[in-house]
Amino acid sequence: MIGRAERLAAAVRERDLDLLLVSNLVHVRWLTGFTGSNALVVLSADGPGAGTLLTDFRYVDQVAEQVSGEWTVIQATQDLIGPGLGEHLGRIWPVEGVARFGFDDRSLTVNALERVREALGDCAQLVPAGGLVEPLREIKDAGEARRVREAARLADRALLEVIERGLAGRSEVAVALDLEMTMRTLGAQALSFQPIVAGGARGALPHGEPRNVAIESGSLVTIDWGCRLDGYCSDCTRTFAVGGGVEDEARAAYDLVLHAQESSLAAVAPGVECRDVDAVARAIIDEAGYGDRFGHGLGHGVGLDIHEGPRLSRLSEATLAPGMVVTVEPGVYLPGRFGIRIEDLVLVTNDGHEVLNGLPKGYQEVE
Ligand code: ZN
Ligand code: ZN
Repeated sequence: MIGRAERLAAAVRERDLDLLLVSNLVHVRWLTGFTGSNALVVLSADGPGAGTLLTDFRYVDQVAEQVSGEWTVIQATQDLIGPGLGEHLGRIWPVEGVARFGFDDRSLTVNALERVREALGDCAQLVPAGGLVEPLREIKDAGEARRVREAARLADRALLEVIERGLAGRSEVAVALDLEMTMRTLGAQALSFQPIVAGGARGALPHGEPRNVAIESGSLVTIDWGCRLDGYCSDCTRTFAVGGGVEDEARAAYDLVLHAQESSLAAVAPGVECRDVDAVARAIIDEAGYGDRFGHGLGHGVGLDIHEGPRLSRLSEATLAPGMVVTVEPGVYLPGRFGIRIEDLVLVTNDGHEVLNGLPKGYQEVE
């Protein structure tokens, strides 16, 4: 964790700041290991120690367990922004003069910013400094990659168990609930997101919420699911044929999406531009005449958040680097008829990539 604080401190110095206020709790967790629901971190550009973590009395024992001794922990009032910061400012910034104090303008509310401004008074010049933590979080260390991998494998096992119990005739809601129960029973800490189970024409909605409607034989069903282990998310999508008799165009579109998915997945390697990976899948789907039926980006980063950087899309400026974990998930959606998406989770390695989930992807008829 200290290595993370040092890397962030370097970014703080680069922005010419004295201090950075980290208010986003997911950033706080990544930086310090603290998982409680009320904390603020003030990181100093040049040490000593990692920085200061403010929390309230409910979390004193938890902080002692989770946060290394190099962090200065301050037990403040529950209202950390405002009274908490104001009261303890002397310990956080014991230097004469005005501090250039960076704040996260991507997550701090306007109201919270005003209260920070009041608490700090003339001691600080507040400077918008969002986006400093996100690029650091994009590169996972070995422990983070292991957690994502384990989450992906657990989610795989859960889906196999659910498929074993059959899909035809069960409602989308029942299948989603079964998936959730099975993941939790197998040891998942939580869901990454509510599972998507979208049968038939409903599959044309990329994020179709499960309905109390039976899954019919002779149709496709798209299932998008994931779980969390130790905070880290997994994310996977499979589209199955329920029984035989799926219409010919859907059957052919499945193979198209599979080809686009496998080809773009094969392009994932360090040094490759994210937009170029997106372009591989898009060119294949365009070529087949379904370009306007693939209306989302190819993929996204996954970590402590289910959607994080880097984005694999036409607009992305990012380049893949070892340690990044991204999804590759092209889809084709025909409103009123069917939808197909196939998604894998992949770790960028030093010499290529490692696919973290392991379920087969070929066209598959299930009961
Ligand atoms: Zn997904
Ligand atoms: Zn995804």
